[in-house]
Amino acid sequence: MSVSIKDLNKSFTTSRGMVHAIRDLSLKIETGEFFSLLGPSGCGKTTTIRCIAGLENPNEGEITLEDEIVFSSSKNLMVQAHQRKIGMVFQSYAIWPHMNVFDNVAFPLKYGLKKRPPEHVIKEKVAEACSMVQMEGLESRSATHLSGGQQQRVALARSLVRGSNLVLFDEPLSNLDAKLRVEMRTELRQLIKKIGATAIYVTHDQAEAFAVSDRVGVMMDGRLIQVGTPREIYLKPSESFIADFVGRINFLNAEIGYRNGDTGESVVQTPIGIIDCPDLKDLPKGHRVKLGIRAESIRLLPSTEEGSANCFMGNVKSAVFLGEYTDCEVIIGDISFSVKAPPESDVVAGSQVAVLFPGESWVVITDKQIK
Ligand code: ATP
Repeated sequence: MSVSIKDLNKSFTTSRGMVHAIRDLSLKIETGEFFSLLGPSGCGKTTTIRCIAGLENPNEGEITLEDEIVFSSSKNLMVQAHQRKIGMVFQSYAIWPHMNVFDNVAFPLKYGLKKRPPEHVIKEKVAEACSMVQMEGLESRSATHLSGGQQQRVALARSLVRGSNLVLFDEPLSNLDAKLRVEMRTELRQLIKKIGATAIYVTHDQAEAFAVSDRVGVMMDGRLIQVGTPREIYLKPSESFIADFVGRINFLNAEIGYRNGDTGESVVQTPIGIIDCPDLKDLPKGHRVKLGIRAESIRLLPSTEEGSANCFMGNVKSAVFLGEYTDCEVIIGDISFSVKAPPESDVVAGSQVAVLFPGESWVVITDKQIK
């Protein structure tokens, strides 16, 4: 099922005044796509999926599921939640511990519809949903005797049992321990892809969004500010907020200039010196930009050949071995850089190092986006 959202707005009146939870949000999600909404707490992710599910009444805009308009402010139309064929998986799966697998999966059929279907239909649909998630034969097992993976599959079966092929996930893995989360997210993506359902997944965890998604939409203050593949969001963030939110990044305020006065190739003048950077987007001389480089892209070398491009001498202020990497703070001039050196690096605090900033690793964020 495809999802199309046009100019969606939702605000709440609270004792603190009006809260604009969603502002002018437009988005198209294709059938079979695994799409994540990523952003900090309070940016409007949950409200967005609640509007899609019909659990919130938006103030303005239009929501279309496949070919059916389910909400339109201009047409004064609001299809009720139980009439939308959408499944939801909540935080920690919300499985009823006192019920067995069958009763958990059957719940939306028994209590979520205006008219309860006959028992044999419920049985058929539960069997079909259980088989989709490879839980057939386990219907009578008590929910308290399920592994984490089986609980996830029961939650998914329950979300699919009404014949939905759109599943909305609201931080389903947030209460699991770190190792289990990694296993569960991999399995979740595989299951959704095998079933062919469309998934919209809400999370504030960047690694989780990247691991499960075909595309990610980053939200801030109720706005959808960038949509792209995980690779695009990480390597080509459109705003410094996104660059910072999806990993550790160092910023430099800079200005476009030419290598030799008014001629020659474009370079960037920064407070630490001139930087060669291939991705200058044909920006004119004098244009102010923000340059960003990720902590893991910076290389620390024992010495530099004078004049080598993008290489500067720096002092190591701190170097903390963390196993996967050595976490360093390196000072060049009066600017501090966060660097993730490989674990085998023998960099120590107090030493002098050559700091290499590979040109292709810089992200150029242009003026209009600088906040
Ligand atoms: P989290 O990750 O913390 O759940 P979120 O990105 O999902 O955050 P929302 O839950 O959508 O954010 O909330 C967006 C904004 O709307 C917040 O400021 C929140 O306080 C407010 N909000 C959400 N629901 C309501 C409500 N029912 N009444 C009043 N304000 C609300």
